[in-house]
Amino acid sequence: MIIGVPQEVKNNEFRVGLTPGNVSGLCKQGHSVLLQRGAGTQIGLTDESYRIAGATLVNSAAEVYSKSEMIVKVKEPQAQECAMLREDQILFTYLHLAPDPKQTQALIDSGATCIAYETVTSRCGALPLLAPMSEVAGRMSIQAAASHLEKTHGGLGVLMAGVPGVAPAKIVILGAGVVGRNALQMAVGLGANVSIFDRDLERLRQIDMLFGNRVRTLYSDSLLVAQEVHEADAVIGAVLLPGAAAPKLVNREMIRKMKAGAVVVDVAIDQGGCFETSKPTTHADPTYEIDGVIHYCVANMPGAVARTSTFALTNATYPFVEALAKRGVIEALKQDQYLRNGLSVHRGVLTSEPVAMAQKLDF
Ligand code: NAD
Repeated sequence: MIIGVPQEVKNNEFRVGLTPGNVSGLCKQGHSVLLQRGAGTQIGLTDESYRIAGATLVNSAAEVYSKSEMIVKVKEPQAQECAMLREDQILFTYLHLAPDPKQTQALIDSGATCIAYETVTSRCGALPLLAPMSEVAGRMSIQAAASHLEKTHGGLGVLMAGVPGVAPAKIVILGAGVVGRNALQMAVGLGANVSIFDRDLERLRQIDMLFGNRVRTLYSDSLLVAQEVHEADAVIGAVLLPGAAAPKLVNREMIRKMKAGAVVVDVAIDQGGCFETSKPTTHADPTYEIDGVIHYCVANMPGAVARTSTFALTNATYPFVEALAKRGVIEALKQDQYLRNGLSVHRGVLTSEPVAMAQKLDF
């Protein structure tokens, strides 16, 4: 199969759909990879490294799209990219179609077969192609909190780890899923005093088994959340109700009662956020202040560490790319019900019921 990897065009997106190692693997299996020149250079993946791995370098996205049977990328295609897709092509990438009727229609019109990373599932119903980005964001959330607790970044002037004779920072994590557990690992590693909330007792049990009394596991009821948030130096928002807006666990009144210079990092901002005072920010201007509390609400946290994120993402996507290239899309989808859950649009037909429901389309 001829597999095409264009350079990402979305603002400030430096990730790339395949690494040189992936290209080498595909070429050894008899496939060809067309890569747009410069696709990985911003994150140190040089054209030369792709050429040595076996890729053919081409000068434009148009050339990648016109000559490839499958396009592998990272972000949802922008309008100019949708216009280049063809009926006999596979598109494998993040799509996030539910809130995006324009992209949905453009993909339907293209006739291509479009598989969304974010809805591919695993045997246990988890989302294996979303999890790596949650791991990255969870770990980054503690770096963001530590940095913004510094006085020069507007914070309280607290060192996360403390020092002998001075207590460490108090960190509260809301949600013990992938983001929350990765934040927890970092916070414990730094020596912070950590509490973590969830409503899923099994998750709290697992954390208790792993961390013992180094961490306080707490059932998420509103009184207890209010009490812990009041005393916190930093709060990490990491809750998710699949398919729904994030529940607002922290209201304005609770923010008002926090210490001036405390930090909230709302990782759940891409689902609306779990603090009443949250609004999305960007890496260019990541924070704002309300009632003296620093809010960090970057909707695309993994973008800041695009090199790590590229490897983390492709480690998860690559086995599916291999299967699609080896078997062709129909056979690969027939053989793998979990990959089939990612199918969103096929030859002019919307195949995702949740997207149809979100956009009030007939299904
Ligand atoms: P997850 O499903 O693994 O975990 C969510 C957890 O929230 C679950 O354990 C669930 O039981 C818990 N929860 C639900 N309601 C709760 C409540 N009322 N109180 C306490 N806990 C509650 O999800 P995840 O992968 O950890 O993702 C968390 C959020 O982070 C999602 O919104 C995801 O989209 C977002 N995210 C954002 C970025 C970013 O760059 N900002 C990156 C990756 C993920």
